[in-house]
Amino acid sequence: MTTLKAEFGVATAVLWHIVPDANGAALCHRLLSSIAEVRPMTDADGEDIEVSQLCPHCRTALERAPRETDDQS
Ligand SMILES: [Zn+2]
Repeated sequence: MTTLKAEFGVATAVLWHIVPDANGAALCHRLLSSIAEVRPMTDADGEDIEVSQLCPHCRTALERAPRETDDQS
């Protein structure tokens, strides 16, 4: 299940990464702490998380991710 994981950087701002596998790396290949704060992926579309708080690399990777119905050959 895809979830969001928080990274607390030195700039104090929290950055949410998109993590397809709870025990794996984020879409931007960053490995986040297993005890990192987690939120459901649906929160990314809500009002709780600003777009600027979402990891831009994760967002790009998600947009580029091939859809199951869009099989390129
Ligand atoms: Zn990321």
